[in-house]
Amino acid sequence: MMALAQIETIVDGVFERARAVTTGHVTTYIPELAHVDPNLFAVSICDVSGAEINRGDFEYLFTMQSISKVLSYACALDVCDRSRLDERVGVEATGEEFDSIIKLDRHKRPFNPMVNAGAIAVTDLLMTQYGSRALPETLAFFGRLIGRADLAIDEDVHRSELRTGERNRAIAHLLKNFGLLDHPVEDVLSLYFAHCAVQLTTRDLARLGATLATRSCPSGMVRHSTLRDVLSVMLTCGMYNYAGQWVFEVGYPAKSGVSGGLLSVVPDRAGIGVFSPRVDDKGSSPRGVLVNRMLSEQANLHLFACAQ
Ligand code: GLU
Repeated sequence: MMALAQIETIVDGVFERARAVTTGHVTTYIPELAHVDPNLFAVSICDVSGAEINRGDFEYLFTMQSISKVLSYACALDVCDRSRLDERVGVEATGEEFDSIIKLDRHKRPFNPMVNAGAIAVTDLLMTQYGSRALPETLAFFGRLIGRADLAIDEDVHRSELRTGERNRAIAHLLKNFGLLDHPVEDVLSLYFAHCAVQLTTRDLARLGATLATRSCPSGMVRHSTLRDVLSVMLTCGMYNYAGQWVFEVGYPAKSGVSGGLLSVVPDRAGIGVFSPRVDDKGSSPRGVLVNRMLSEQANLHLFACAQ
């Protein structure tokens, strides 16, 4: 990648173009998310040397939602028994919505850890690993990769999803039916929703992306192979039923969340974080997708692009 200073002008242009996009809708199926200002918009980039570009509302705290699936899977890869983990969740793209239940019923095992069914199964394994300390231990793991020891949970969003998450409850009961959960459904969901409600900024996302880009955790406390495996599954499954098109057009690993956050990783080069609360019917932010499409093209970031 060009030095970060050289792409500042590109980022400014991309930011202004994307700001004009107002398609999509703020997520309402988690009632607490409906209160957010739809016009918030932030873009952050952090390269592997730690240099940063930040634009817009980059200090605004939002909940990770499905971006947490990257971290809970990383944690499970790092600390849980690998054959147990592979037994409980696959690494194949579903081509279905993030909360799809159909394939789970047919195949009796979640397709991958980036969709709700997979992440709920992973959460159960983390509970087995950590027992009653599952929440603080997993948050400490998240914090090691994000580079923050003070991560907090948005309790209102957590409660809101606990109160209304009947579809995830259905998925969890199906997992339990197939013998894929060792703990009570409500306990597993409470931890899963807590992970989804972890708050961060686009700046945190970009720094997390930069750590993944190097496959090397600053504290040295997470295995390289863990980060390699997480990036592989983000590349093929991170954007749900938009994953194929995303790799085709943008060309690097990413993970979206229904609060409007988008984490992208340009291996060996940089992490990119975008936040814009309006999301499309595939659960990702149209502004976030456009920012990445334009950056990939204008800064030549596609993994399979020829060096310029
Ligand atoms: N907490 C959300 C859910 O489980 C996350 C979904 C997403 O961000 O895609 O429905």
